[in-house]
Amino acid sequence: MMNTQLLVGPMLEHAETFFAKKEVISQTHDKLHRLTYKEIGQRTRKLMDSLQKLGVAKGDRVGTLAWNHHRHLEIYFAAPGMGAVLHTINIRLSPEHIVYIINHAQDKVLFIDEDILPLIEKIKSQLTTVETYIVMTDKAEVPESGLHPLYSYEELLAAGDPSTPFSEDIDENDPAGICYTSATTGKPKGVTYSHRGIVLHSYALGLADAAAISESDVGMPVVPQFHVNAWGMPFACTWFGSTQVMPGPRFTPQRLAAFIDTYKVTITAGVPTIWLALAKELSEGNYDTSSLRAVLCGGSAAPLGLIKTFEEKFRIPFYHAYGATETTPLVTFSRLKSYQQDLSDQEKLQERSRQGILVPGLKMKVMGANGPVAWNDQEMGELLLQGPWIADSYNGDDSNNAAFADGWFHTGDVVTVDEEGTIKIVDRTKDLIKSGGEWISSVDLENALMAHDSVFEASVVGIPDPKWQERPIACVVLKEGYNTTKEELLDFIRPQFASYWLPDDVLFFDEIPKTSVGKFLKRQLREQVKAIYSKS
Ligand code: ADP
Repeated sequence: MMNTQLLVGPMLEHAETFFAKKEVISQTHDKLHRLTYKEIGQRTRKLMDSLQKLGVAKGDRVGTLAWNHHRHLEIYFAAPGMGAVLHTINIRLSPEHIVYIINHAQDKVLFIDEDILPLIEKIKSQLTTVETYIVMTDKAEVPESGLHPLYSYEELLAAGDPSTPFSEDIDENDPAGICYTSATTGKPKGVTYSHRGIVLHSYALGLADAAAISESDVGMPVVPQFHVNAWGMPFACTWFGSTQVMPGPRFTPQRLAAFIDTYKVTITAGVPTIWLALAKELSEGNYDTSSLRAVLCGGSAAPLGLIKTFEEKFRIPFYHAYGATETTPLVTFSRLKSYQQDLSDQEKLQERSRQGILVPGLKMKVMGANGPVAWNDQEMGELLLQGPWIADSYNGDDSNNAAFADGWFHTGDVVTVDEEGTIKIVDRTKDLIKSGGEWISSVDLENALMAHDSVFEASVVGIPDPKWQERPIACVVLKEGYNTTKEELLDFIRPQFASYWLPDDVLFFDEIPKTSVGKFLKRQLREQVKAIYSKS
């Protein structure tokens, strides 16, 4: 066979060639844009030319601080297409973390959305490698700013050559992108994606038993483009010629619902908190969501109640998937096997609330204290992964290299596996509650609590206990209009758990602290809970 290179640039070339008329619908600060892949292709080529004129060369890091929109999509292809490296920066991280990752990645150029300029102005004196700033705005003038030199994206494009070719001087193992983890459990860690990894991951998103992304889809990535490349959707949707709907800056549940209705979105992806908010909006508003064939949910465990609401109340197919920044991210996808179709409705739901089976192309093993665990859904162990879109190290960071010992990526996620090979994430190693020599899964308790009609969100943390080492405490946000008690909630979940699993207390909160990408921030919650008890 020929050993042709798997590169990112030619993915857009494919869309320009075969799906020239298909569209990207993109919301920016000031307006809605509709561009065909032919136009996106030409604009991307112009951008590569302008970046070359600005001195961006092979291997240089190109940072983005931006929402989900077409300009961000163009940089997704322009940077790797010219042999540079796309570095998507999580704009919701703390300014200290943003400074750290820009300097750590050695970004040479920063593309910045207009509303994010003030943030970068504040930290500019600490940025040690940035030479050029480019603002993405719909306005004719470059906004007033303390950043120098500051160029306008559209002016750069206007001066670029639309026939600029994608570079062929790239090896498929060269870096195409960089992303830092969202710091749920500590300092952000940088991961490099190769061209090959991104291309193979995109194929995986197209598999019928995974996300099955195809030309006939209208894809709306809600998960931010700065979070694991919006789970790879912009790459796969472009390559396969799907229509794309980019929801833009500071979107609301109303905008998401309206876009689904107006543009007949067929597939969308995001974290559970987004879908909780959308479910509320769909219940209150009047939207046609019949076009949706798949809502993909990952990033943290999808509560069973959420899957049920989407499927039974709104008749929207809801799929649970699992992955991480280090895994590009798709690792498992939850679908029923053909012979599981005659399970009862409750059994089907239970099965689909698990994280699913490994997508083809990856290898896994689950290691307990005494070696690989049995696939009996009882023994717990850490999930280890290998594959062409799994990272093999953190960028310039040897302190965390234990995560890649023996040629496997150690996910830090504790799972059980059933006889079908379906995994269930029991917890993160750091969040598992150790009580009297037994393990308690905070995720299981959270899911059980969230199945109660009055519970909007529930997060369970372990706090130190002199007798048992740690004990679970449930932190609950009730839906508006409810005043359910601690006893009612404990009675509700009691039948499902051994008595020692039951939380020692249920605390009611207005809000649960979340990470920049909407996950429960358990580090902070644990401190809040400890502070409550130390006062009482
Ligand atoms: P961070 O580790 O900083 O949160 P990531 O965004 O890469 O950064 O998160 C990956 C982690 O998210 C996984 O290791 C896992 O703990 C969790 N996760 C992802 N998908 C799921 C899922 N479907 N169910 C439960 N946990 C999930």
